[in-house]
Amino acid sequence: MSPQTLRPSNPRLNRQARKAQSRERKDLVEKILKEGPAKAAMTAAAVAAVAVALNVTQARLTEGEVDAWQQDMEQRLDKIQQHPEQNLGFIEEELARASKEPLRLLAERAAQAKANATPCRCPDCKIELARQQVLGRSIDSRYGRLKFYRKYGWCESCEAWHFPADLVLGLNKNSPASPYLQEVTALLNTKMPSEQAVEVAVRFGLELSRCFIHREAHRQGLKAQKVRQTRLAQLDTWEGLQGLAANNDGPAVEPFTLVIEIDAWNIRERDDWGRTEKARQEALRQNKEVPSKWHWVYVGTVFRLDHRGQTAGGRAIISQRAYVCTRLGIEALMRQLYRQAIDCGLGQAREVLVIADGAAWIWNAVKDRFPEARCRLDLYHGEEHLWAVANELFGKGTPEARQWVEPVLKQLRRDDPAALIHSLKDVQAKVSEALHKKVQAQVTYFENNKNRINYREILRARKAVKKGTATKTQLAKAGEPLGSGAIESTCRQYQCRFKRTGQFWSIEGDEALMCLETFWRNNAWHHLFPHAKPPSFANN
Ligand SMILES: [Zn+2]
Repeated sequence: MSPQTLRPSNPRLNRQARKAQSRERKDLVEKILKEGPAKAAMTAAAVAAVAVALNVTQARLTEGEVDAWQQDMEQRLDKIQQHPEQNLGFIEEELARASKEPLRLLAERAAQAKANATPCRCPDCKIELARQQVLGRSIDSRYGRLKFYRKYGWCESCEAWHFPADLVLGLNKNSPASPYLQEVTALLNTKMPSEQAVEVAVRFGLELSRCFIHREAHRQGLKAQKVRQTRLAQLDTWEGLQGLAANNDGPAVEPFTLVIEIDAWNIRERDDWGRTEKARQEALRQNKEVPSKWHWVYVGTVFRLDHRGQTAGGRAIISQRAYVCTRLGIEALMRQLYRQAIDCGLGQAREVLVIADGAAWIWNAVKDRFPEARCRLDLYHGEEHLWAVANELFGKGTPEARQWVEPVLKQLRRDDPAALIHSLKDVQAKVSEALHKKVQAQVTYFENNKNRINYREILRARKAVKKGTATKTQLAKAGEPLGSGAIESTCRQYQCRFKRTGQFWSIEGDEALMCLETFWRNNAWHHLFPHAKPPSFANN
């Protein structure tokens, strides 16, 4: 609406008058929206109001509005002063409340000014639009509801109606959310379920319904998937790959190792809206593949070894790392991982080191995408497998179990899979048939992974570092991870949101939200919400 009609007649911001004005405004806008281009039917006042709105070039508060704002704030602060028990928190609350309306007015007028400054041209063809009209639009923003008018028109070339100002303002089709609310709903919903988000939002001064948060966050998730798709498409063309290479070809750096860790966890989905059981029975009857509520989510992380360090307490920390998380299968995981690896310096890396828990699908996928990579079985998984044998054969936690397992653990840490497999086969010969099978499974596990057992050098290097006798090579070696702890902690973090008690997802819903969360973790949030870029970069 035009700034003039919004200006309160009484500088003390008479509430009732404002309410009446707002009702009148609402009626007017509704009338304009309903009757659209039928200008003849518009009242003279409405035509005048639109005309005023279309003339706004700057966002300003009138002197009266500024005075009223100041008086209102001072009154609120005086009241707090009279209550000794009210602390600074009350002051913060009241100031935020008092400022909301003036800020809303400024936001509304600034949006109007931006819309007015936007040429009515086709965003694609850049030609002037035909049959130009004016239409009002309401937007929910950080400061409440805003109303503004903008021109729209018909593009002869692409045969479509366009609203160029909406694009400039960052508004989505069919959604009332301002870019800030788009971002906030996305952020809230990736961290917590909508019903909790409603309450958290209220504390930040935002009245958002559960439905609004859920719907808007999903919309942003779909947007994130689109952006991800565009970035992936760069892998498909020669030009795209050249562009990527040029982007990531910085100044020469010390040779480094690129570490990739891969894992998977499962998520519960509502297949066919709760009809999983029925489908399962049917499939069993027909000997078909049995449907399940549980589905694999594939997760990966990439980082440069020289970005891995230690806290004062000796815990490993990684200063920069990229994540991938997808429900769309192994192929999708590896494609996304490859794309992230390029951003992390794959082109400049001396070598790639992949660490994982020994699942066959991982090594097959790695062979396909990173054929030159050095692979390592996660040491702790290897140890767990040996402990499982010991506990099974000698009783859980018994001295006998420990006595058997200790030398075998040493064989593992000494990079001696042949001796380790020999130990397993040795004990296998002495046990019952049922246990024989179980031990055989472990023999197979270590046979399959025997080329990925390499810990000795690292353990030695770490010892040398402790003693202070490490060579330069040993210093670098000591920093290599023995296990895939980095990706395991990542899995747990995703599960905190996506694997809560009683939670069911749809494949569309979980992929969208996981994609959003991954943009956040990858420091790529501003690709989705440009206003969220740190201020120092925002105007560059
Ligand atoms: Zn066009």
